[in-house]
Amino acid sequence: MTASAVQFTDVLVIGGGLAGERCAIEAAAAGHDVLILSLVPPRRSHSCAAQGGMQAALGNCVMAEGDNTTLHYLDTVRGSDWGADQEVARIFVEEAPVAVRELAHFGVPWTRVRGGHNSYFIRGKRVEIDERLENDGLIMHRDFGGTAKWRACYAAAGTGHAALYAVDSEVVRLGITVRDRAEAVELIHDGGRCWGAVARCLRTGGHFAVVAKATVIATGGYGRIYGKYTTNATINEGMGAAIALNTGSVPLGNMEAVQFHPTALAPSNILITEGARGDGAYLLDKNLHRFMVDAEPEKQELASRDVVSRHMKQCMRDGNGVDTPYGPHLWLDLRHLGEQHLITKLREVFEICRDFEGLNPVTDLIPVQPTQHYSMGGVRVNKDGQAYGMNGLFAAGEASCWDMHGFNRLGGNSLAETVVAGRLVGRAVADYAAATSLDVHTSLALGTKHAAEQRAGDWLNRSGSGPDVYSIRDAMGETMMSKVGIFRTGDELTEAVDELTALLIDCDRAVLRSKVPGMNPELSFALRLKNMLRLAFVTAKGAQLRTESRGAHYRSDYPLRNDAEWLNRTLVRWAADAAEPEFGYEPVGEIDLPPGHRGYGSDERIEMYEPVEQYNSDAYERQAEHGRLASSEAPGSRILWGAWREHV
Ligand SMILES: Cc1cc2nc3c(=O)[nH]c(=O)nc-3n(C[C@H](O)[C@H](O)[C@H](O)COP(=O)(O)OP(=O)(O)OC[C@H]3O[C@@H](n4cnc5c(N)ncnc54)[C@H](O)[C@@H]3O)c2cc1C
Repeated sequence: MTASAVQFTDVLVIGGGLAGERCAIEAAAAGHDVLILSLVPPRRSHSCAAQGGMQAALGNCVMAEGDNTTLHYLDTVRGSDWGADQEVARIFVEEAPVAVRELAHFGVPWTRVRGGHNSYFIRGKRVEIDERLENDGLIMHRDFGGTAKWRACYAAAGTGHAALYAVDSEVVRLGITVRDRAEAVELIHDGGRCWGAVARCLRTGGHFAVVAKATVIATGGYGRIYGKYTTNATINEGMGAAIALNTGSVPLGNMEAVQFHPTALAPSNILITEGARGDGAYLLDKNLHRFMVDAEPEKQELASRDVVSRHMKQCMRDGNGVDTPYGPHLWLDLRHLGEQHLITKLREVFEICRDFEGLNPVTDLIPVQPTQHYSMGGVRVNKDGQAYGMNGLFAAGEASCWDMHGFNRLGGNSLAETVVAGRLVGRAVADYAAATSLDVHTSLALGTKHAAEQRAGDWLNRSGSGPDVYSIRDAMGETMMSKVGIFRTGDELTEAVDELTALLIDCDRAVLRSKVPGMNPELSFALRLKNMLRLAFVTAKGAQLRTESRGAHYRSDYPLRNDAEWLNRTLVRWAADAAEPEFGYEPVGEIDLPPGHRGYGSDERIEMYEPVEQYNSDAYERQAEHGRLASSEAPGSRILWGAWREHV
C-alpha cells in the first residue's frame, strides 16, 4: 500500500459548491478535520453560475412590506404542488434570513435598497415608488416567479458568483483542505454504514481512498442527463446521486421531478435569469404578443416555472414560435427596462446576450426557449440531511432530496437552500463525527479502491468495434428531452425506458478511442456514462409510473394532480449489480397546509380521500419503513401548526 492510497479524515465533503463548502465550514468550525473533493477548483463549481437571487423573507423594500417566513412557507409549499416535506420547508424559511445575512458578513456585495424615489416595472407597467429612507442600504429584493412578495436578495445578476467567492474565502481562511480535480467514484460502505469514498485523480488517473467518520454528498444536479438541452454546466452529471444509488441501500427521491426553466437562450441553452422577468421583462410570441397575460392574467410572466414553461411550449406547438433551423423559440423583451437598469441590476444578462448571442438587450429581442434546469430529485435524506438507509452518509444542496421543493422549485429557493442546508447539515455532520470513531477495516476501503481501478482497467482493455461513449451520451440527451420533457405521455415514456435500456446495453460494449490510462477525458467520461444512464433510466421510469400531473411532472394523459393516490414521494433503490430498480412511495411528511389551488396554473385536481389527520397519523412510521433514520429532533417538531391560517 502506498502512503497516499488511503487517507483519513473526520469529515469528507464530496463537492466544493455552495452547499458543500458551507457544510465544510460548519464541520471545520466545530474542530473537525475536513477534506473537500471537487471536480474543479471550488470557485468554478456550478453555484458560481447562479444569477438572479436568493429567497429570504427580510421585507426590506416597499414591494416586500408585510413579508414574513410564513408567506415564504406558503409560496414554497404551493410552488412544490404539495410535493414538499412541509417541515423542511418551514425549517428552510425560518433559517434563510439568517443565512443570507451571514453571507453579507462573509463579504457578499448584496444589491441594496436605495432610499427615496425608484422606478420599477410591475406587471407590464412602469411604477414609481418611494423607498423608505430609513431602509436605505438594507439588502434589496426583486420579484421572482410564484411569490407573494418581492423576496429574492441579489447581487446584480451574479448572485451565485458573489456568494461562492465569499464562502470559498471562508474555506481558505479556515484552512480546510481542498483536493480539486478529484472525483469520488464509489462510496466505501458495508451496506448500512458509510466510511468515506474512493476517488479518482483526474490529473493522473490514480485512485485513492478517503476513510471518514462522516461523508457528505454535495455534488449538485444531474442536468447533463438531458445532454445539451440544459442550462447546467458540463460537470453536472449527477455522480453523487449515482454513487449513492449504486449502494442499493440509499434511495433517490422524486427523480421524475425535473425542472425546465422558461428562458434559456436559443439555441445555446445558456440561462437568462428569472430575475429578468422579475424586473419586468416580457415573453412575446412571433407576433410580438404577450401570451402570458392571456394564459395567467394574475401572475403573467411570473407564474411558477413549470406553469410558464408549459405555456411557452404550448404556444410554440400552436405555431406561434419563431421558426429557425434549430427549432422554434419565443422572445424575451427587456428593451423597456432601459440601458441603465440592464447594465447595473442585470449586468450579467446584458453580457451573456452580448457575448454569446451578439445581441444588445437594450435594442434587441432575445430568443429564448424552455430547457432542463434543476433537479428536484436526489439523495433522499431526513431533516438533518442524513441519508435514508445508510449511517454516516449525508447530502445537501441540489444533490439531495431534503425535500423543500417537491415537484417544482421556486426560483431563488435553491441558492438559499445551499447555504441553509449547508449550515444545518454541517452541524449534524459535526455532531455525528464527534460521537463516532473510525472503526473500520482498511480492507473495506482497499477492496472498494481495487474494484474502481478494475472498472477503469476494463474500459481501457475493451477492444473491437463497439459504439463510442459520446454518441451514447447524445442519444440519451435526445431521448430525455423529447420523451421525458415538459409534456409527457405514457407511450413516449415507455419508448424512453426502452431506448435507455438499449443504451445501457450499448454502454457495456462501447469502446474508447483513447487508451491512455492517465489524464484521459474520454475514460473519465466513460466511467460516468453508465451512472448517467442509470439516473436517466430511473427518471424516465419514475415518470412512467407516476400517473398524475404534479408541478414539473406533467402527464398529458393524466393532466390532473391526484392527491387521492399520488400525494407521496417516489423512492428508488438500484444496487450496481441488480438488473432492475425497485420503486417505492412514502408520505411527503406530515401535512400542515392542506392541498389546494396554487394560485396559478390549473385549479382542477383529484382531492384526497382521507382526512389530513389520518394521512398524518402514521406518516413518519411509514417513512421509517422506507429507511428514514432518526433525526436529532423528533420528526414534525419544527412545524408551526396552522401559522399559515392568518395569511389565507
Ligand atoms: C445557470 C443557472 C443559474 C441559476 N441561478 C439561480 C438563482 O439565481 N437562484 C437560485 O436559487 N438558484 C439558481 N440556480 C440553481 C443553483 O445555482 C444550484 O442549484 C446550486 O448552486 C447548486 O449548488 P450545490 O452546492 O448543490 O452544487 P454545485 O454548485 O453544482 O457544486 C457541485 C460540486 O460538486 C463537485 N462534484 C460533482 N461531482 C463530484 C464527484 N463525483 N466527486 C467530487 N466532486 C464532485 C463539483 O466539482 C462542484 O464543486 C441556477 C442554476 C443554473 C444552472
